[in-house]
Amino acid sequence: MQIEKKYQSLLDDLINFLKNMKYLTDNNVESAFRNFPRHEFILSSELDRAYYNEPLPIMKNQTISQPGVVSRMSEWLDVKDGQNILEIGTGSGWQTAILSCLVGTGIVHSIEIHPKLEKFARKNLEKFCLDNVNVILGDGSVGYPKASPYDRIIITAACMEIPLPLLDQLAYDGLLLAPVGDTSQSLVLLKKTSKGIIEIKNESNYVFVPLLGKFGKKN
Ligand code: SAM
Repeated sequence: MQIEKKYQSLLDDLINFLKNMKYLTDNNVESAFRNFPRHEFILSSELDRAYYNEPLPIMKNQTISQPGVVSRMSEWLDVKDGQNILEIGTGSGWQTAILSCLVGTGIVHSIEIHPKLEKFARKNLEKFCLDNVNVILGDGSVGYPKASPYDRIIITAACMEIPLPLLDQLAYDGLLLAPVGDTSQSLVLLKKTSKGIIEIKNESNYVFVPLLGKFGKKN
């Protein structure tokens, strides 16, 4: 998709900022950011802020994630061509689109719990005619066993602990990335091995909206 002129320099500035801050180091993730301009995934009321490094409101008190967080998560997930990916929390569909670019001949299954957001994401993604994205309306805290096992699982909402069904649905040698914690979270990257689950990376001071559903936040 050809990006409109008025957004091109804003996107370039954002990318330079993310590179300087070391939130963006991978050329494939940079290409994905350029192929899927963020302004195509937000509400028209927020267009002026499309290329700020900030989360922005979408609907149902949810947000499109901050660009620096999306680039960091996309890089940590280390997606390879042809993989089978599960995303919990489609939101606007922006992270989904970036994953679809990284996975190439593979597929991204993305689950959203709010019907209004599932529709919003579908509408945003339809503009790009992607044939490797499967958006599902449902509770992602129980996963999507039908298409498991997954090479990569990404949770884009805060969990108190990783839902066990998601660990079950992760393939051996697969990676799972999630923000874990209550009011502030650590971004945690886990690997499933034949000897058990091991932590690969952990970085504190993130803030995500809570994961809802059966294995999500209890009120
Ligand atoms: N990465 C998304 C983007 O780029 O727009 C933003 C995701 S937003 C921070 C978190 C999303 O997770 C929200 O859309 C929320 O409705 C969704 N969510 C929360 N709990 C969920 C669950 N149990 N299953 C599926 N989606 C869930």
